[in-house]
Amino acid sequence: MNKPNYGPLKNAEKCTHCGYCLPVCPTYRVERDEMQSPRGRVSIVLALMRGAMQPAAAVDALSHCIGCRACHGACPVGVRPGKLSLAARAFQPIPSTRLGGWLHRITDSHQTTAVASRMLDFYVRSGLQRVVRPLLKGIPPLADKERLIPSHRPKPPVFLPEPPPDAPTVALLGGCMARLFLPHVGMSARALLQSMGFRVITPKGFGCCGAPHRERGDKEAFVRQAKKTLDAFGALDHIEAVICDSSVCTITARSYDKAVSKRDGDYAPIAKAFSSKVMDLTEFLSQHQPRWQQAAVDPGMGTLAYQDHCQMRHGLGTYAEPRNLLDALPVAVTEIAGDGACCGAGGEYMMRYPQRSRLIRQDKLEAIHASGAQTVVATNPGCMLNTQAGLEAEHSPVQVRHLAEVLWKSRENLLPRVKQS
Ligand code: SF4
Ligand code: SF4
Repeated sequence: MNKPNYGPLKNAEKCTHCGYCLPVCPTYRVERDEMQSPRGRVSIVLALMRGAMQPAAAVDALSHCIGCRACHGACPVGVRPGKLSLAARAFQPIPSTRLGGWLHRITDSHQTTAVASRMLDFYVRSGLQRVVRPLLKGIPPLADKERLIPSHRPKPPVFLPEPPPDAPTVALLGGCMARLFLPHVGMSARALLQSMGFRVITPKGFGCCGAPHRERGDKEAFVRQAKKTLDAFGALDHIEAVICDSSVCTITARSYDKAVSKRDGDYAPIAKAFSSKVMDLTEFLSQHQPRWQQAAVDPGMGTLAYQDHCQMRHGLGTYAEPRNLLDALPVAVTEIAGDGACCGAGGEYMMRYPQRSRLIRQDKLEAIHASGAQTVVATNPGCMLNTQAGLEAEHSPVQVRHLAEVLWKSRENLLPRVKQS
């Protein structure tokens, strides 16, 4: 039998076991168990490489890493425990949870996502949710899951006139979880971009970027999903940028160039070109900020605070862009303490390890309350659903809103609009 190629795990050998990474790790913070710490995870990776641990057992232990990347910035010698925990999954992908698998089957296709989203429109807007939610109080596991369906589901914005055909064009990659649970997010992002004079293309055949497969370490399924995305978006010659409204999609779509290899033939250069054009909505808007934000008004959501998506903050280093956008609004903006700590969502993690996820979330909720924010502003749907569910469970009046919605609200009344045909 061929020896597995442990090359991608070699970074673990640099670990000096100093422990500087322990205090920033959310799983260690709530468990106080070495095996739930970055240092413990590095030891597991080393045991796997030395043959002292079987891949199934090692990956099972490493699946408890939520992938927040906070440990990366804390390590003085450049060890990447979060990345290592993800890379090790290539040797034995983590199975999907039942609910996660069910959601992936829906979001795999644009059509099924649209149908499910319309059903949720009815569930929330008809008032059915207000009847069902109290009935589930006596069944905590069901109540917890139902609370993940946001009751804030406003009607889509009225559209602006289409910019002329020769206007600069961007493609909008609307995250599948946003399209399903927060459909106003993509619409607000599109309206914002149009208001800046961009033509916006939203490919109809796009389902999911493959983030859940990537997180589980299922490379085959991830590459398959990446190719489907590349097919849906087609040629990008005339496109200035591929803009993601959900930060987990930004991270995922940026990694296509590494996942799709020469073995995938013509897809390799296409993936490279695609990844090079991917931008997070916050990056794109902040790059074009002087062009459009001078006249913004108070969006009427009280004191705002930006909730970092931990992987964006610690993995891609995104910090100033969303804050600059909020600081330019004529409203009070505060900070949530914790240095971009994880909220406990972690994609499917909140379904796989719900108890630990809730403990991690509790720290975040306390930080939100201490900040005095009335509206938490975020860009990642998973964080939004998880945080809003936690706030609703404790009957907090604090709301969670996507940055695109907040910015659109600060601007929509200033612009000429047309009814969407
Ligand atoms: S991963 Fe880095 S910070 Fe953590 S114990 Fe190893 S060397 Fe120290
Ligand atoms: S990525 Fe996050 S959860 Fe995983 S080891 Fe690092 S700090 Fe802990």
